[in-house]
Amino acid sequence: MDIRIKRLKNAFGCSGIAVYDYILCEIYRVKGCFLVWDESSAFDVADYFGLKENLVMEIVNYCGVVGLFDKDIFRQYKVLTSVEIQHSFAKLSMFVPVEEYKNFLLIDAGDIPFYKKNKKARLFQRNVKKWYRLIKEVFKRDNYICQYCGKAGGKLEADHVIPFSKGGEDTIENLVTSCRKCNRQKRDKTVEEFKQWRLSRNE
Ligand SMILES: [Zn+2]
Repeated sequence: MDIRIKRLKNAFGCSGIAVYDYILCEIYRVKGCFLVWDESSAFDVADYFGLKENLVMEIVNYCGVVGLFDKDIFRQYKVLTSVEIQHSFAKLSMFVPVEEYKNFLLIDAGDIPFYKKNKKARLFQRNVKKWYRLIKEVFKRDNYICQYCGKAGGKLEADHVIPFSKGGEDTIENLVTSCRKCNRQKRDKTVEEFKQWRLSRNE
């Protein structure tokens, strides 16, 4: 068991665990990776468990002392969060509003994939018709030839030169005609990475 939870239980018994658990649930439920803590929050928790507000405050402070929440962020912003909470949120969430959290972001924004930091959706999710018109133009421009292996015809797809996950956009400049096989193999590699990958496989 996590030594910090053990310390919390030794200091406050089940009440400590209950309060910590309650706050975790609120963090994930409301904002995903932090909770703004004010007097009404302390009152809500105390009321829910039939505890004294002072005790709830002591427990919250103690969680900071043992490192279950980040002490400095709590002192400065009255916000409850931690590195671990933010890491799991960034991992599970489809969208991480780093701008909104920038004051108390404890994890490196560079570690969060680009597409999770940007609300824009793929064109085919927003406007299917427009997407099909666009890829038709791409195929025509490329003479219906796979730009990676030179194969003509067959089932063609539009591939993102700069992968969408790395910030590439749904524009004619960023799309090339690709056969199904090349597109599957390229996945989210950049063109350079894909070339290297093919060389390493002697294709
Ligand atoms: Zn190909």
